Amino acid sequence: MSAASGPAEEQSALASVRKQLLIGGTWRPGEGGRSIAVEDPASGETIAEVADATLAEARAALGAAADAQAGFAAMAPRERGEILRRAYERMIAERERIALLMSLEMGKTLAESDAEVLYAAEFFRWFAEEAVRIHGTYMRNPTGAGRILTMRAPVGPCLLITPWNFPAAMAARKIAPAVAAGCTMVVKPAKQTPLCTLAIAEILREEGLPPGALNVVTTSDSAAVVEPLLDDPRLRKLSFTGSTAVGRALMGRAAGGLLRLSLELGGNAPFLVFADADIEQAIGGALAAKLRNIGEACTAANRFLVEASIAERFAAELAERMRTLRSGRFSDPHSDLGPLIDGAQRAKVARLVEEARGRGARVLCGGQVPEGPGYFYPPTVLSDVPAEAEIAREEIFGPVAAIYAFDSEAQALALANGTEYGLVAYLYTQSLERALRVSEALEFGMVGVNQGVVSNPAAPFGGVKQSGLGREGGFEGIGEYLSTRYLALSL
Ligand code: NAP
Repeated sequence: MSAASGPAEEQSALASVRKQLLIGGTWRPGEGGRSIAVEDPASGETIAEVADATLAEARAALGAAADAQAGFAAMAPRERGEILRRAYERMIAERERIALLMSLEMGKTLAESDAEVLYAAEFFRWFAEEAVRIHGTYMRNPTGAGRILTMRAPVGPCLLITPWNFPAAMAARKIAPAVAAGCTMVVKPAKQTPLCTLAIAEILREEGLPPGALNVVTTSDSAAVVEPLLDDPRLRKLSFTGSTAVGRALMGRAAGGLLRLSLELGGNAPFLVFADADIEQAIGGALAAKLRNIGEACTAANRFLVEASIAERFAAELAERMRTLRSGRFSDPHSDLGPLIDGAQRAKVARLVEEARGRGARVLCGGQVPEGPGYFYPPTVLSDVPAEAEIAREEIFGPVAAIYAFDSEAQALALANGTEYGLVAYLYTQSLERALRVSEALEFGMVGVNQGVVSNPAAPFGGVKQSGLGREGGFEGIGEYLSTRYLALSL
């Protein structure tokens, strides 16, 4: 993977993407030729225009998915698996192009985009293998009379809605299991980052996904164009990744059709460091958990809870490392960190820092909105943050590490669990006994033990409480797209 790119490579990557609606296997320009501008967040400049769908086009996409459902469910599992496998190979072969598209539309460094392309591709490989492992059960009725047979059938047409922060991985994490299970779909990427999804859809189309199995709708008005699909009786499932507020509202609307739901929502991850931890290892994990994706990750460490005896040292060492990092456009080879996604996101991060500062938090590094174009915000460390600061409750979604001290394991657990969210927690200790005890007491769907990144296509990703429902990836992932059918056999 090359570490740099030039204007020619950027133009070529942008020109390679179909920027239309994919409906029934055909790319269409969109009624009236309306389009949505896609911005480079490092400059605020428009880099591409993609089709802006109408409600009628979104309904046509769902119609195409519904028409294709029976045929797609009947396709041999091996054939569906092979399509996914070829998509995996293509993503690996085209990783530079897709990574460049990602950096252009989302802003992260090329190295981070490349890592995301590999992560996204792995979902295609994992679910290529899962497609041929869908099985049922056969058992004797406990009464001795008759048999119980269960089989698993695809849920049916799905609506897959993804956010802007991981434009390839969030799409792959839904599309791959849906294909493996035999579900057709309408995919709706975030309007800020549609390009990676469009590129992936074209790869799948070229690799043999039947017309109508995967439809893509881009829109500037999701509420008016996509949400009404939830009332359509042809739709059987919603899988949504995004904010808790929108997820909750969509869940309410999905109640009418009693849709199957997978919701991957917001987080407020605690990062616990006990005095017996390997501090160097904890600092490395903290940098990964905080700065991956410029902090714009649902899994980003949001609250650093550090045992009081080492809190000062931890804060100083983390600040020392974060202070040296440079923000810049991905094309700048000296840049360690990209911009935030837009002005609103940056204003929110700046406001949270100011509010904490006003309540007495100390700013050890960063904390100032820089001059110049783009939506940059510097890596920032806040220590002595009071527990009542807004930054302790809100998902920061930026490169700001807020550090809180605790005196006992019980207090650490109370602080960690004192949030409405429950996606992921991290903990650092060298005691296996403590690691297991604390993991069991944490009210989160995932726990990183002495590691700052938990995402893995082979593991079940998901949260509890206000962080959502269901799991993506792992052995559980395909189950979100299957329903169980039971046959009562009188023999
Ligand atoms: P968002 O505003 O909730 O948007 C997510 C997606 O929903 C976008 O595609 C958006 O479309 C669409 N949308 C918004 N309103 C809609 C409506 N009324 N009907 C249908 N679709 C609608 O979230 P975001 O700001 O993009 O993403 C950040 C959030 O995602 C954070 O809270 C983060 O924690 C969460 N997230 C969670 C996970 C996880 O796995 N748990 C992973 C990544 C991100 P537009 O493009 O039109 O806005």
